[in-house]
Amino acid sequence: MATTALIVAAGRGTRAAAAGAAPKQYALLGGMSILRRTVLAFAGHPGIDHVAVVIHREDRSLYDEAMAGLTAKLLAPVTGGATRQDSVRLGLEGLAASNPGTVLIHDAARPFVSHDVISGVIEALARAPGAIAALPVVDTLKQEAPGLLIAGNVSRDRLWRAQTPQGFKFSAIRDAHDRAHRDGAGGMTDDASVAEWAGIAVALAPGSEENIKLTTAEDLALAERHLSAVAALETRTGTGFDVHRFTDGDHVWLGGVKIPHTQRLDGHSDADVALHALTDALLGTIGDGDIGQHFPPSDPKWKGAASILFLEDAARRVTARGGRIVNVDVTILAEAPKVGPHRAAMQAVIGQALGLTVDRIGIKATTTEGLGFTGRREGIAAMASATVTLPIA
Ligand code: MG
Repeated sequence: MATTALIVAAGRGTRAAAAGAAPKQYALLGGMSILRRTVLAFAGHPGIDHVAVVIHREDRSLYDEAMAGLTAKLLAPVTGGATRQDSVRLGLEGLAASNPGTVLIHDAARPFVSHDVISGVIEALARAPGAIAALPVVDTLKQEAPGLLIAGNVSRDRLWRAQTPQGFKFSAIRDAHDRAHRDGAGGMTDDASVAEWAGIAVALAPGSEENIKLTTAEDLALAERHLSAVAALETRTGTGFDVHRFTDGDHVWLGGVKIPHTQRLDGHSDADVALHALTDALLGTIGDGDIGQHFPPSDPKWKGAASILFLEDAARRVTARGGRIVNVDVTILAEAPKVGPHRAAMQAVIGQALGLTVDRIGIKATTTEGLGFTGRREGIAAMASATVTLPIA
């Protein structure tokens, strides 16, 4: 069953935005809107199949601008309501047609959500029908008396601070929100509260101090400084090369697309020579061996495997290192079949796997003028390069 991230961006964000300015989720942070950063954090996670955003009815053009060029995994936006709780309920209603198995609800104003936090919530859903990112309270808690004096201490024992994402079985949280709405149970500030109200068990998963909610103008300024600190990034490139021979068959897999042909490519997996070269290019950026090491042809598990799995695994390895894929570029060397008619489909498949927009995915093809093994139509070769940024360790 699919997992959809529902990003709540319908608020007016008046505490952070200057009068007359766009709501804070559309403010630029390090040159990119907060909402786009948040959407990319989820779209780039291999455990997330789709991303949908709940927006304010007046924000459609701001939304379109913020999402320009993003198509991989992105569903149409949903119009929210007057409160956060209403907006989530309407957002869930908007997902009903696609009926995901799991939904991760997340505040647009938390753009620094990490791969690990998202993974942690997804994993915790194995323990309960609901799971949230949260952090134990570490500060000493004081209760206030009149005159801003301290009345006493509150034990922080077993107290946690709730963050987002908050993940749920889709049908369970949708029912809970609908019931709360019908019963007039409003004013709940997170979805775990709605779930608890409905009697749904919710598990705690590790949050992160970096996963802050940008609420005030001071938060935005702090985040801007934080970004320039993490701007200590280095750029790395990797290359890959692969060859597969032709054998009897009626189609080839190239770039994740099945193309009718007079022969097929021989190999243990689906023999997608383009994705193999690309997988090796990604692994090259982090010095993490090659495709044959991670998916040995000797292992029957990978017999006939879809090579997109190899590519997704390589992307996961890059993101696990804090890396971000900047662009990839593939060249296919073959007399036939023609690649041009399938280029857009290949870009879509690769974009989905890597969380990249199509303008970051080069797909090129050339013949070798009848020369060599590709020229003699004995097989197809592919080469690829990948560029990633990684925090300097
Ligand atoms: Mg290969």
